[in-house]
Amino acid sequence: MELMWRTSHVSGGNAHYVEALYEQYLVDPNAVPDEWRNYFDKLPRPEGSPSRDIPLSPIRDQFYQLGQSRRSAQGVATSDSSESKKQVKVLQLINAYRFRGHQKADIDPLDLRKPVPIPDLDLSFHQLSKADMDTEFQTGSFFLGKDKAPLKEIVDALEQTYCRSIGCEFMHIVDTEEKRWLQQRFESVRSKPKFSDEVRKHVLERLTAAEGLESYLASKYPGTKRFGLEGGETFIPMMDEIIQRVGGYGSKEVVIGMAHRGRLNLLVNILGKSPSELIEEFDGKKVIEKGSGDVKYHQGFSSNVMTAGGEVHLALAFNPSHLEIVSPVVEGSVRARQDRRDDAEGDKVLPINIHGDAAFAGQGVVMETFQMSQTRGFKTGGTLHIVINNQVGFTTSHPQDTRSTEYCTDIAKMVQAPIFHVNGDDADAVLHATQVAVDYRQQFHKDVVIDLVCYRRRGHNEADEPSGTQPMMYQKIKAHKSSRELYAARLVEDGVLSADQAKDLIEKYREDLLAGNHVANALVKEPNKELFVDWSAYLGHEWTGDADTTMDMKRMQQLAARMCEIPDGIQVQRQVAKIYEDRRKMHAGGMALNWGFAETLAYATLLEQGHPIRLIGQDSGRGTFSHRHAVVHNQKDGTTYVPLEHIGDGQPRFTIHDSFLSEEAVLAFEYGYATTMPNALVIWEAQFGDFFNGAQMVVDQFISSGESKWGRLCGLTLLLPHGYEGQGPEHSSARLERFLQLCAEHNMQVCVPTTPAQIYHLLRRQVIRPIRKPLVVMSPKSLLRHKEATSTLEELAHGRFNMVLADVGKLDAEKVKRVVLCAGKVYYDLAAYRSENEREDTAIVRIEQLYPFPKEELYEVLKGYTNLEQLVWCQEEPLNQGAWYQSQHHMRVVADMLENGLGRELKFAGRPASAAPAAGYMSVHVEQQRQLVDDAFNA
Ligand code: AMP
Repeated sequence: MELMWRTSHVSGGNAHYVEALYEQYLVDPNAVPDEWRNYFDKLPRPEGSPSRDIPLSPIRDQFYQLGQSRRSAQGVATSDSSESKKQVKVLQLINAYRFRGHQKADIDPLDLRKPVPIPDLDLSFHQLSKADMDTEFQTGSFFLGKDKAPLKEIVDALEQTYCRSIGCEFMHIVDTEEKRWLQQRFESVRSKPKFSDEVRKHVLERLTAAEGLESYLASKYPGTKRFGLEGGETFIPMMDEIIQRVGGYGSKEVVIGMAHRGRLNLLVNILGKSPSELIEEFDGKKVIEKGSGDVKYHQGFSSNVMTAGGEVHLALAFNPSHLEIVSPVVEGSVRARQDRRDDAEGDKVLPINIHGDAAFAGQGVVMETFQMSQTRGFKTGGTLHIVINNQVGFTTSHPQDTRSTEYCTDIAKMVQAPIFHVNGDDADAVLHATQVAVDYRQQFHKDVVIDLVCYRRRGHNEADEPSGTQPMMYQKIKAHKSSRELYAARLVEDGVLSADQAKDLIEKYREDLLAGNHVANALVKEPNKELFVDWSAYLGHEWTGDADTTMDMKRMQQLAARMCEIPDGIQVQRQVAKIYEDRRKMHAGGMALNWGFAETLAYATLLEQGHPIRLIGQDSGRGTFSHRHAVVHNQKDGTTYVPLEHIGDGQPRFTIHDSFLSEEAVLAFEYGYATTMPNALVIWEAQFGDFFNGAQMVVDQFISSGESKWGRLCGLTLLLPHGYEGQGPEHSSARLERFLQLCAEHNMQVCVPTTPAQIYHLLRRQVIRPIRKPLVVMSPKSLLRHKEATSTLEELAHGRFNMVLADVGKLDAEKVKRVVLCAGKVYYDLAAYRSENEREDTAIVRIEQLYPFPKEELYEVLKGYTNLEQLVWCQEEPLNQGAWYQSQHHMRVVADMLENGLGRELKFAGRPASAAPAAGYMSVHVEQQRQLVDDAFNA
């Protein structure tokens, strides 16, 4: 905008002309040309914060003055006369339309919406009557363009504004400035701006593209599943407008999440996927290079398009069948891009989430995604939500069965998002609602919803017959003209183009399609790659457990010192002060290192080496078990200090946030973040390991299989506290067995580190290797403070992550008859038993990485025990849980590699099979634990 003021004809002598135009616009936005209306629409409103000044002060002053005069004009006579009473009623009527006009609006193209009585919109409800129609009343805050008007004119304007093709819901917004802004945008043009012929022709061209692709695919591949857009074609001009408009605002990236319906259309007509490539997919010719692949209507895509503000990068997220779960993934990806651009307000990257009506109303993750929208750790400057509302949900749904709310969008009111229900057959209205939505988002940085009310011409998919379950609706649909036909007829009627010209558009599109030409007209054929996230350094590496995670001791100690520094003036709480004091002693070599020290030092060293870190969890600042205290709270004034943000000048971002109490949306968000920020260590920490249950879908559909399905690499780390310590069935197990069950093709790493040095090197390995694979860590609880679970500075500086930890006891290998294999905290119970019972015949070997299973490394350890007779796997988890069923085949393979082949003799020591993860009674827990340790040595 600055540039325009400096360089355009607006500056200097022409300013008066612009002022005059602006004045005109204030009175009647329709009276100025499209481009000027667009421009003025985007100007910050004068009642906004002073920081949103506009550069041309005369215009600003003018606006202020007008605002003042309008306000004074709103002053209602204070006398008690019946006239002034009526005046009050008129103002109430105006507000009633703002509140409830949407219920009367013509938003349903099929006209199936049952009218509801709306007494508030009756004159009589306000003690007004037809007899008052010619009386002049003040218009108050109603943007009618004049201070006084006859009641008839006011009512007509209200009907036109609130009861035509757009049903606006915004009166639930508390902020007056936002409400005023929205009222002005709709009321000043009666929700129907006059678009130029050029603009309308362009809309028709895009509508034709939307319809053209579907009819081509329908004729060439009848009955093949494609989840076509038919009935909701206006979605395409809408997306076109959104992208062009945010581009005009200077945005650089748009990330889109959407389900199946309309996806192929979006890919080809907006993102510019080559039609020939799509057709190859339909013909089954396309072969993926690696992995198992996914169906075509789940595929993502990236491209650049040209807009008035320059090139904009578009990224369509891949997504699974389950609707809605992709929304928080998109948010995470957007936040990563905003962080990369230091775009704290969210001006440069826009998230668009596209929803189905039934899923929007039905899925809990929608609420969770709204809930995160303004929080510090997750906000993205407002999301544009579009509901492709086919009014039927999936196959047999009826509103009475799919929701208890009036609209499928009511959930959005929880964050006071404005909601625009718009008739999908009225492309002009769709364009207007879209423009207001984009402008609102850019102005207020909050979520906004467009409910595109349309229909689904075919069944749930193309092989499905919908009239079996929706006879009445489909009788109507069969007789209903397409949105393109209706719009073309309207443009012909308005003299915008001739019927032949409208038909030519169809022919032209079909020709392009047949020729395999790109049909997204804004596509940039040679895109600026700088707008893409660069993954090249991470591609094409085979999995390896090796990484050089060592560091020069002096440098490491300097960082250790820095991570313990808290400036004077911050009054640290007593227990926290003790933690920091101990860390200083550890750094000075006066105390063995504990978990908190090693973990924090892993972060400090990675930051110093240029890797951003993002650590999110319900209690991640402090750590659920108070071991971390990465965020120090000043006891004097409640302010916070994060030492890891002060490791060195120019260090990368260290982000740590306590999340809100969600797992599903939060884990999905972090997945989205990690798949967009390859250089970073991204960690999600569960409060207790089993909490990930609430996000199982994210684990199944993204974390474990995203690379195989879509080639999307992801280095996300999950810290899941796990261990049997008598805390009952809910807080003992992170369901290790479920992760192991999902492991194949080196898709992720599952580790159970048992020493501070191991977590230090494991976290460093995760980022220092050029490999990006999810890392699932069964992290400790009591081990955080276990006196045996310590390490040395030497081990940190010069060690590595050991996938297998050999026995550390001073055993004579020849005397060893039994090896107990184990993972995690039970090691310390086994070691204690051995030392108490002086069992020198038994070695204890820890498998610290359960997947990919370290066969070679285990073999190297076991082969030293030449007189080995018994091999036991010991776990705390019940027989049907933990690693036993999922990992025993790996152990047997290693046993078979040994000279005295013990494969078939691998024994189990653990809790008996159990429906619940752990016993609820402490006494039962203690007895089970004693028994399983005993079994490991003696059974
Ligand atoms: P985007 O910025 O998301 O559009 O990504 C740009 C390009 O980077 C994509 O077309 C992919 O080739 C690549 N890419 C993006 N994300 C990943 C990922 N998680 N793993 C591997 N490659 C990726």
